[in-house]
Amino acid sequence: MGLQTQTALALPRGAGRPIDADSLDALRRIVGAEHVLTTDGDVEPYSRDATPLFSARPGAVVLPASTGEVSAILRLATERGIPVTPRGAGSNLAAATIPEHGGVVLVLTRMSAIREISPDELLAVVEPGVTTAELADSCAAQGLLYAPDPGSRTVSTVAGNVAMCAGGLRGLKYGVTRNYVLGLEVVLATGEVIRTGGRLWKDVAGYDLTRLLTGSEGTLAVITEVTVALLPMPAVARTGVAYFDTLADAGRAVAAVIHDGIVPATLEFLDNRCINAVEDFAKIGLDRQAGALLLFGDDGTAEAVERSITLMAATCERIGARGVTMARDVAESEALLYARRCSLPALARLAPVTLLEDATVPRPRLAEMVDRIDAICARHDVVVATFGHAGDGNLHPTIVFDPADGDVRHRAEAAFSDVFDAAIELGGTITGEHGVGAAKRPYLQRRLGADQMALLRRLKLAFDPAGILNPGKLGS
Ligand SMILES: Cc1cc2nc3c(=O)[nH]c(=O)nc-3n(C[C@H](O)[C@H](O)[C@H](O)COP(=O)(O)OP(=O)(O)OC[C@H]3O[C@@H](n4cnc5c(N)ncnc54)[C@H](O)[C@@H]3O)c2cc1C
Repeated sequence: MGLQTQTALALPRGAGRPIDADSLDALRRIVGAEHVLTTDGDVEPYSRDATPLFSARPGAVVLPASTGEVSAILRLATERGIPVTPRGAGSNLAAATIPEHGGVVLVLTRMSAIREISPDELLAVVEPGVTTAELADSCAAQGLLYAPDPGSRTVSTVAGNVAMCAGGLRGLKYGVTRNYVLGLEVVLATGEVIRTGGRLWKDVAGYDLTRLLTGSEGTLAVITEVTVALLPMPAVARTGVAYFDTLADAGRAVAAVIHDGIVPATLEFLDNRCINAVEDFAKIGLDRQAGALLLFGDDGTAEAVERSITLMAATCERIGARGVTMARDVAESEALLYARRCSLPALARLAPVTLLEDATVPRPRLAEMVDRIDAICARHDVVVATFGHAGDGNLHPTIVFDPADGDVRHRAEAAFSDVFDAAIELGGTITGEHGVGAAKRPYLQRRLGADQMALLRRLKLAFDPAGILNPGKLGS
């Protein structure tokens, strides 16, 4: 008998219903009346996140200031069947904080202290709502590197990064958020406070709940403290850019760089449409005729970086790059990195709606995947541009459209459905870093299969018996 026959998680009994007056009073007693928002104007910004086309009104927005308050809120919500959607900055791109079934949006941004940075133990302990950039900057001031660097780092929260297992521009060399989470304090749906992992770099006592909770998208527990691993700050960082006639050539250059034994800190690509959108937006002198741009960079000791960056430039030339430019100083490096970081805002200027997606394929199949994306989007008659992390096979095909253009939204959705099928067919996945949320939930079974979906539901049930945490998403 397959596991899939075992469980189907019901929605909490308060799903879709307004929160009753008695429960609202109880919430006000826990966090103070000024931290419970209920009017249309106050809750409207929490009906949406950074994902276009999704929205749902919460019954209330509640902003706790301590683990004790989070615990009391969750205990109440479980007792009364009230859905709770945890939220940091709401910058996710998977509709992961849309309160589809109403209830409470639990915003953790009042808990934003950096409790400790320990150069001796190479770790930091933070509250959930501190932004990624605040943590990274505070560590940098002490000569330490907090490696995860999502493009949203100035707004995204550390707990939001943990809950989504966010990636970024340094994934190939440094890994993603999960590689830096040493320990968590979390509150279970029933109110118990649990500590997983801790300050140790080696600890294999029990199931690895820290890893399970990392990437759990607010469906298993609420994170109230994070202990992250740090690294010594590399002495120097350098960046270069190579232009190619085709993305296939850029893909061959990526393969050759890795074959040379280099694991670069940065290996990002933009296709021709992205290059032109970025150049229109930022005017930094990119080669508009190039079929693909490859941004490469490394960090470490001065000698090691000089060696790897020179070798990468030579490799790109050998593969037939139409031009290679090296940044001469930090300011030029920053300008090149900005070309990649501003891809999304640059594309967003092309049309009223920008649908950014996130699929990953094995690195050698990157160019093939871009060709498949272009063919799929041509077939569905939608405009697509693709950029992403060439080093780890993670692509961000981005469809831009004007909703006034007939059935274009459905064509875009159909195109992405085919894109996810293509990624899976090439040995890849439907999301490399942006997560599943409500946006990718319909495609999840294609990636995991029915038995694994059933196991997810059983895990969800063990953590959250009343199904109150972010209902309708992962584990539902
Ligand atoms: C311009 C831009 C660039 C981006 N670049 C990248 C990138 O390079 N790499 C990348 O991976 N992502 C990127 N993102 C997506 C996004 O920033 C990340 O997913 C980020 O981790 C979300 O953090 P947040 O604080 O905004 O979380 P939110 O969006 O508020 O929440 C995300 C998820 O985490 C859960 N959650 C939040 N806080 C808690 C908590 N305390 N306890 C339990 N669950 C919680 C929520 O329920 C939700 O499921 C980008 C987004 C934008 C808009």
